[in-house]
Formats: sequence, C-alpha cells, structure tokens
Amino acid sequence: MSDSGGTTPAVDRRLSAAAGNASRFRGRDETSEGLARLLAPILPVTADQLWQHIPGRRSGSIHLEEFPKVEAYSDAPLLKIWEALRDVRETVNAALEEKRKNKVIGTSLGARLIINASGPIGALLKSRRDDLPMLFNVSDVSLTVGATDVADEVRVEVEKAPGVKCARCWRFVPSVRTEPDCAGICDRCVDALAGLVNC
Ligand SMILES: [Zn+2]
Repeated sequence: MSDSGGTTPAVDRRLSAAAGNASRFRGRDETSEGLARLLAPILPVTADQLWQHIPGRRSGSIHLEEFPKVEAYSDAPLLKIWEALRDVRETVNAALEEKRKNKVIGTSLGARLIINASGPIGALLKSRRDDLPMLFNVSDVSLTVGATDVADEVRVEVEKAPGVKCARCWRFVPSVRTEPDCAGICDRCVDALAGLVNC
C-alpha cells in the first residue's frame, strides 16, 4: 500500500469527513487515537494528518507515539456484537457480489439493500439502524424486523440505488446541492465541509 502523500480515496473520504465533523465525533476521540496509532506504519501521512485533526491536546506527531494497549480496549459484549454484524456483512457481501457480476451495480455504493431480519440479530440491526449503510458500504438500507424471540434469520436483497451520485462521497442520494461552492455534493458532505465551503 502506498502513502506517498496521497491516500486511498475511500480512507481519505472517511478521514476527511471525520475531521470535518470533529465536533460531532468528540465522544469517539479514543477510537480515533487508537486508529491513528494502528495506521501509522501503513499510512504514515494519513495517520499523522488524522492525529493533528483529532480534538484535544496531544504530541506533535503520531510517529512519536506507541501502539495502543489492546487490553484497554477489550470489551467482550462489544466484540460479540461485532462478530454478529460481521456475519451479516458476509451475507450482504455475497449478495452484492452476485449483483456486481450481473452488472446490476458497479461498486457497492451503487446499491440499496432490502434486509428482512428476525430473531436477536433483527433487534441488533435495528439498534444500529443508522450505521448500517456505512457498515455495508452501500448508499441506503431498508430494514424490516420481524419477531425477535425466534431464531436468527436474515434475508438480503440488493437493488440499484436510486438518486444521484455525490461527487465527494460517491453515495447515491435523493439530490445534490447546486450552489457554486458545493455543486454536486450531498448535504452530509456539506456538513462535513462546514467552514471550508460557503453554502
Ligand atoms: Zn456526499
């Protein structure tokens, strides 16, 4: 992986969105710090940029820091949640791959998921409803949850995402902005760029 001053577009978009939205992410500073430490050997420039943008006082460079102490982040219930979500993501990825092969979608961001879930996994997905598009890297997720006191069942359908493509985050959204400073980008990106664009 190369990090000669540039970054992969996907990582760059996520990091710049997070940096632009710094005030909204204050509760996640510890996570961002840990992430920056872990990324430092692989993406030295990006990790250092992230380090500079995380709110709060810290050393001048990520490269003066050590790896995070893993034990401090160990959280068994949270790990269980993520294992369950990763299982669903595998199901989603298989469904996305099939549609990609059939040329219904190009990238996963060209997709909208229709998920029907029941059992405890249904309840879990519902509780993480707002995070699902980012978790599955798609533009939209429609979630219907049935009975939660039955065995787990998840059914996933994939369709082409409706709307227009945001030029910044590449999600398909109902509409993009038209003002000269932010033409072609979505409301969320305008939020992320608050203070940098005049919209
Ligand atoms: Zn956008």
